[in-house]
Amino acid sequence: MIFLDNASTTRVCQDALEAMKEVCSDLYYNPSALYGEALKVKNLVESARRDIAAMLGADENEIYFTSCATESNNWAFDKGIKNKKGNIVVSSAEHASGYECAVAQKSKGIDVRFVKLNSDGTLNEEDLLSKVDENTCFASIIHCSNETGAVNDIARLSRKIKEINSKTIVHSDGVQAFCKISTKVKELGVDMYSLSAHKVGGLKGSGLLYIKKGLFLAPLISGGGQERGGRSGTENVPGIVSFAAAAKYFVAHYDIQKIKQMRELIISELAPLGAIVNGPSDAHSILSLSILGIKAEILQHMLSDKGILIGLGSACSSKARSNRVLTAIGRSAKEIDGSIRISFGLDNDLEQIKHAASIIKNDIITLRGNIR
Ligand code: PLP
Repeated sequence: MIFLDNASTTRVCQDALEAMKEVCSDLYYNPSALYGEALKVKNLVESARRDIAAMLGADENEIYFTSCATESNNWAFDKGIKNKKGNIVVSSAEHASGYECAVAQKSKGIDVRFVKLNSDGTLNEEDLLSKVDENTCFASIIHCSNETGAVNDIARLSRKIKEINSKTIVHSDGVQAFCKISTKVKELGVDMYSLSAHKVGGLKGSGLLYIKKGLFLAPLISGGGQERGGRSGTENVPGIVSFAAAAKYFVAHYDIQKIKQMRELIISELAPLGAIVNGPSDAHSILSLSILGIKAEILQHMLSDKGILIGLGSACSSKARSNRVLTAIGRSAKEIDGSIRISFGLDNDLEQIKHAASIIKNDIITLRGNIR
C-alpha cells in the first residue's frame, strides 16, 4: 500500500502506541480518582499537556483537551460568538467543522461575513479587512487549508484584524499546520487554536483547543468539571498521552525538503498531462490537482485497486459532489470533477512517489482513452 491521503489521517506512530499501551493496560485508572495510582495517570495527562503547550509556545493552563478538532471548532464558534452582538468574519476555506458552525449562526440571524479566497487558496486580505469592523466579535481563519495546502499568514492577518477592532476574538484551525510549520500561538496572535491528534500520528478521537489566558469560553460540554471546568467528561487518557508522544515524534521526523521533492516529482510527472495545481506553488504536504478529462472518483478506484490510496478533496466531505473551497478559488465544475488530493506523510519516500506517479500517469491516459 502506498498511502497518499495523510491529510485525512495518519498511521499511529510507535511512540504513540507505547504511550497508549501503558495507560490502557497498567495505568488505566481514572485521573480524577484520589488514590496514588490515579495520581500517576493524572501526572501523565499533565505532562502531555505541558509537552503540547511547549510546542505551541503556550501556557499549560491554556490547553483544553477535547474529543477531536471538530469539537474544538464547534466550541470556539458556538461559545466564542454566543451572546455577542455584532458580526462574525469567517474564511471561505474553513474546514466543514468550522464552516458549518458559521452557516448555523447565519441561519440564527447572526451577520456572518464569508471572506473570499485568492486564486492560490489563501485568504484575500483586502476582502477580509473590508469586512472586519468595530462590530466584529469573532473571526476564524484556517491556518493551512486541508483542501489546497495554502497557508495563511495568521500572524499578519490577526494583527490587521485587531488593528481595526482589538476586541475581535481570533480563532484559527491549526489542524493541518501543527508540526509542519510554526504554530507558536503567541506569534500567531490568536485567541483560540484548534488541533487534532490523528493528523500527526496520534489517535483518532483526540483533539484540543488552545484558549488564551484571560479569555473566558463557556463550556460546550458540561458535567464533572474536568479540564478545569472547560470540558467535562472523563479524559481520553490514551488519546491525550499518545497525542503528545506522536507530536514530538512527528516534529522530529518531518522533513520538509523531502516532502517538497515528493510534491515536485508528482507535479513534474502530471503537468505534461495538463494537471493544474490548486493552491500555491510553495505548499508542501498537501497537493491538490485538477486533471481535465477524467472523473477523479474513478481514478481513485483504479489506483486503490493497485494499492495507491489518494484523496478527493476533503475526506470529511467526500459525499458532497461539489467542492466549496475549489469553487471559491475559481475552479470550474469539470476541473472539480477531475480533482484529486495527494497528501504526504512521514511514511512516504521518493521511491514510492516515483512508482505512484507513473501509475497515476498511466491510469489518467487510460481513462482519457476510454472517454474519447
Ligand atoms: N480541521 C481541519 C483543517 C481538518 O483537516 C480536519 C480533519 O479532516 C478537522 C478540522 C477535523 O478534525 P477531527 O477529525 O479531529 O474532528
